[in-house]
Amino acid sequence: MSTMMTAAAHAEMPAVLSVEGLTTSFLVDGGWRPVVRNISFDVMPGETVAIVGESGSGKSVTSLSIMRLLARDQSRVEGRVLVNGRDILALSERDMQAVRGNEVAMIFQEPMTSLNPIFTIGRQISEVLRRHKGMSKAQARAETIRMLDKVRIPNAGARFDEYPHQFSGGMRQRVMIAMALASRPNLLIADEPTTALDVTIQGQILDLIKELQEEEGMSVLFITHDMGVVAEIADRTIVMLRGDVVEQGQTADIFRRGQHSYTRELLAAVP
Ligand code: ADP
Ligand code: MG
Repeated sequence: MSTMMTAAAHAEMPAVLSVEGLTTSFLVDGGWRPVVRNISFDVMPGETVAIVGESGSGKSVTSLSIMRLLARDQSRVEGRVLVNGRDILALSERDMQAVRGNEVAMIFQEPMTSLNPIFTIGRQISEVLRRHKGMSKAQARAETIRMLDKVRIPNAGARFDEYPHQFSGGMRQRVMIAMALASRPNLLIADEPTTALDVTIQGQILDLIKELQEEEGMSVLFITHDMGVVAEIADRTIVMLRGDVVEQGQTADIFRRGQHSYTRELLAAVP
C-alpha cells in the first residue's frame, strides 16, 4: 500500500502516469471547444488516485484522452501524457495498442460496451492473453479460468463457455476487471465502474479492486462522482469542475480541509 511508503521513496520512483498540461478540445460548430483545460497530475506506483466531479466535468474525456480512445478527426489532445516515462501522445497507433495491451487497462461504467455479445467471455479474455502475452490456446484457457477465479466468479471453469448476457451486471463488471487485469497492466483506469450497480454489489467491486491492487501492486486511477467512494478507495484525490482541476491532494487532507468551494459542496453531500 502506498500509504506505507515514505515521501522520499516516492520521490525516487518514476510516476506510472504523468499528465502534464492536458487540454482536450472537441470540434463543435466548426470551432475547437476545450472541455478539459490544462490539467496536470501524477499517479505513483501502487497508488490509487481518484478523479471526482459532477457529471460533465471532463472526467471521462480525461481518461479517454489518456487511453487515446477519442475520434481523432473530432478531437484535439494537447500536452503530455507519460506512461512509465514515455509520452504516449507521440506514439504510433500500433505502439499505442501495445501500451493498451500491456501497460494501461481501462474499465467502464457499462461493461456491455466492452464485451462482445456474440463471443463467450472465456474466448474474449483468452484472446487478450494470446494476443498480448503470446500464450497457447491451452495456456490462455487455464490463465483465463485463474483470472475469473481471482475476481471471485463462482464456478469459473464452467462459466468459461458462457456469453455476456448470461452474467448479471455485477458479474459482468467482474469479468471486465478480469479481462483488464489479464494483461497485467501497471495502471488500471476505472471510469465509474460501480455507478450502474446496486449498493451492495458496488461495495463488493470496490473491495475486489482494493484486494487485487494489493496483490498485484498496480496503480489505479478511479473516476467517480461519489465522495463516499473516494473515501473508500483513494490515497489521493483530484477534484474536477467544468474541465478544470480545482484542487488535488491526499484524500484525508481533502476531506479535512478541502479549500475550494466546490470541494466543500461535494463534501457536504456525503452522508
Ligand atoms: P464526465 O465524465 O465528467 O461526466 P465527460 O468527460 O463525459 O464528463 O464530458 C465533459 C464535457 O465534454 C461535457 O460537456 C460533454 O458534453 C463534452 N463531450 C464529451 N464528449 C464529447 C464529444 N465527443 N464531442 C463534443 N463534446 C463532448
Ligand atoms: Mg463520465
